[in-house]
Amino acid sequence: MFRRSPLEMRVLIVAPIGRDASLLASALAVLQIETAIATSAATLLRMLNEGTGSAIIAEEALTPGVLQNIRVWMDSQPAWSDMPFIVLTSSGGPTHESHLRAQELQALGNFTLIERPARPDTVRSSVCAALRARMRQYEIRSRQEALIKANADLEQFAHSASHDLKEPLRSIGIYSELLARSYGTLLDEKGLQFLTFIQSGTKRMDALLADLLSYAHASSISGDAVEPVHASRSLEAALDSLAGALRESEARISLGEMPVVRMRQSHLSQIFQNLIGNAIKYRKENELPLIEVSATKAGVHWVFSVADNGIGVPPDYKETIFGIFKRLHPNSKYSGTGIGLAICHRIVERYGGRIWVESEPGDGSNFFFTVPG
Ligand code: ADP
Repeated sequence: MFRRSPLEMRVLIVAPIGRDASLLASALAVLQIETAIATSAATLLRMLNEGTGSAIIAEEALTPGVLQNIRVWMDSQPAWSDMPFIVLTSSGGPTHESHLRAQELQALGNFTLIERPARPDTVRSSVCAALRARMRQYEIRSRQEALIKANADLEQFAHSASHDLKEPLRSIGIYSELLARSYGTLLDEKGLQFLTFIQSGTKRMDALLADLLSYAHASSISGDAVEPVHASRSLEAALDSLAGALRESEARISLGEMPVVRMRQSHLSQIFQNLIGNAIKYRKENELPLIEVSATKAGVHWVFSVADNGIGVPPDYKETIFGIFKRLHPNSKYSGTGIGLAICHRIVERYGGRIWVESEPGDGSNFFFTVPG
């Protein structure tokens, strides 16, 4: 299952002075660990890019330029990667400079310091520990790849299933309509009632299929490397789609200042649309809906809030409602598929955020979600 190039378990050695490089290579050859010696910063970067299990770097080779190159390289790495570096420090007791250097490397990433002269056993055990850690990272990468593939398969399945199911469903819709129009007069009251059941079942199935497709789409989202977008554009798009429902319900909506976020516009818009749509749908019978949309900064994230004065969510269901097909009311009272919040949950999750609700039954709900800033 795990795809790995042979280069990915080799150990790079950067030790420009004396015989350090060849001594290290022969110490590791005892364990049949493959090594490659990098003689310049450019070679080091090329080899890191080709695939590397760990890198041993002599302290004197860590010039500010090389450190900067390593920093840039590390920033470009995917989330699963945490390259283990081993730094051979100069011999002698700790100095103020060596302390600062150690702190700098720790802040930079996964660096282990070994003091020279290092015993071959010490080098071997540090390298083995580094390679074990790297192997775990490759396993995480493979699992991620398998998950991405499984999600793509699921999306493909949902596409085909909903496409194939829509066809017979369309026929049922068309023929029940024809039956009602052409032969309706021949049916008694019960027969007409049965026809109505068929027609409303068809409509419901159609809505379920459309929502299932959106859910499968949300599962395949990748939250990596997204261009910043102004959240107000997503909010406007959502309000446009809800214009009819907003007008009919006479909802009053107040909008706070919207930030710039790293999320695809259509994804953020879908979340707003589902949450504001629910705020309208789950309103109290005798009160006009009041909806408030706002955003506040919390560290590297923005926390969005969609608050309403509706029927509220009972305490025991505050987590359940984000699951697929989870509904608290019969369709006859509030129509729906039970997929809207599951879609929001999926999208937010794909961008590394979270979604939750604070609510008192009968006293409105406040849905929060976080998005990378
Ligand atoms: P649907 O609205 O189609 O049932 P959702 O996934 O959007 O599906 O919502 C799941 C359930 O969560 C709803 O059936 C409802 O019981 C509850 N819910 C969602 N939003 C609200 C809200 N703003 N106020 C009260 N209950 C809500």
